[in-house]
Amino acid sequence: MFIDLEVGTFELAPPQGLVVSKKGPLHRPTEIVETSMPTRNGCNLCCTAEYPFPEVSMRTCAAIAVGALLAVAASAPPQETKGTRNYVFSNGQWFDGKQFKPKTFYSINGVLQTKHPSRIDREFDLQGMYVLPACGEAHNHNATSQHDWAIDDYIQKGILYVKNPSNMPRFRQHGRINTAAGIDVLFSNGSLTPSGGHPLVLLKKDIQRGALTEADGDGVYYFGIDSLADIQTKWPQILNGKPDFIKINLVYSEEFEKRKNDEKYFSRRGLNPSLVKPIVERAHQSGFSVSAHVESAMDFHHAVQAGVDEISHLPGFWLSEEALAKGDFSGYRIREADAREAGRRRIRVVTSLNGVFEYLNSKADPATRESGLKLLAQNLALLRANSVTILIGSDQFRRTSQAEALSLVESGLMTKQELLKAWCETTPRSIFPKRRIGRLQDGYEANFLILPGDPLREFSAVKDVRMVFKHGEQLIPRE
Ligand SMILES: [Zn+2]
Repeated sequence: MFIDLEVGTFELAPPQGLVVSKKGPLHRPTEIVETSMPTRNGCNLCCTAEYPFPEVSMRTCAAIAVGALLAVAASAPPQETKGTRNYVFSNGQWFDGKQFKPKTFYSINGVLQTKHPSRIDREFDLQGMYVLPACGEAHNHNATSQHDWAIDDYIQKGILYVKNPSNMPRFRQHGRINTAAGIDVLFSNGSLTPSGGHPLVLLKKDIQRGALTEADGDGVYYFGIDSLADIQTKWPQILNGKPDFIKINLVYSEEFEKRKNDEKYFSRRGLNPSLVKPIVERAHQSGFSVSAHVESAMDFHHAVQAGVDEISHLPGFWLSEEALAKGDFSGYRIREADAREAGRRRIRVVTSLNGVFEYLNSKADPATRESGLKLLAQNLALLRANSVTILIGSDQFRRTSQAEALSLVESGLMTKQELLKAWCETTPRSIFPKRRIGRLQDGYEANFLILPGDPLREFSAVKDVRMVFKHGEQLIPRE
């Protein structure tokens, strides 16, 4: 139903008003419409989880050495050494997970502390402004080396942690990805999907327009998995790409047999549900978390039963033409037992609802809008009632989790306070669980953003980001 743009294989024009730091030939791709349904600016893929896994690959570990060192350093009081840059941030109101409180913080070598250091190199007078931990984007494919405009956009919005659940492996390296100067990104590389599975229509289009070649297909853009033998034979190749986590695709698994060989369902089919558990077990044995794209409630069920770590969409985020025509959304209603099990297993769920909100608010008739919003509200409420962790991710190629956050508050599905906590605390900490981020406390990385307005009063205040700091250094405004 949505425009299904993927995955960093082509350059997109930046959204209007966005500063592009590097001039270059930008062109807008032909939009790919799988159905006549709402237009959506992202692909429809998915993501990760909490598991005793190396949260980043060795390569990424090396790339974010500064952050890692800070994280280690942060477990002890920050050390003042010769050359240490000590800053004081005075007169700010700092978010503590519930409210903003007046405090003074110091950044000592990129780590927050409340104790006055022996020397101050610079004072930042925050003039009563509001300080939030740098926020996260749990699902977007635009964070690649091809898209300077997206990196700019994240930094300007104070979103410094991004998860990219399906990317071309060769577009991971960039001067502002996994460096002190930019955003920290986890990459899954190609996702696991069956022959003709989601999201191969995007690959097809990219090959047609010359952005990719056939050689970029199986083994790069995706890993075709139709059998247990495929898992066995392709696993070394998957690991060779040094992913940070594993991404799999489930698409109406209750109709797996019906869809698997029918051309009508090209790119609208997912893995054989019987293969999901073996994939998850293999991934966990290899030390990787697994993130599952799901669409229906049955996909959600299979993902939970297989023990994935993260479910990349709330069922109902992509309403099929059939369901809309019938006005029957029962296939997206998460079962209570599955929600309970997801909570018990500490499986996280990424929202990615802005696209469907846009559709329901602008194109659906009033009855459909009402029943669609009711479905989403029920699913989200059921997950929260079962203590399932909710992460804020947009899956919108030309946008960020800021748009997702705004729409979740505007729709009334989350309160302002819940949203801030999920977006700026929980999401960052779930992306990089071993780092001391997502909180404004002693010993945490000094990564934060400054707003003149109070987002607990008026949530749209999050759109007016005046300053962004990473490791205590000012990224925005650039000096
Ligand atoms: Zn996606």
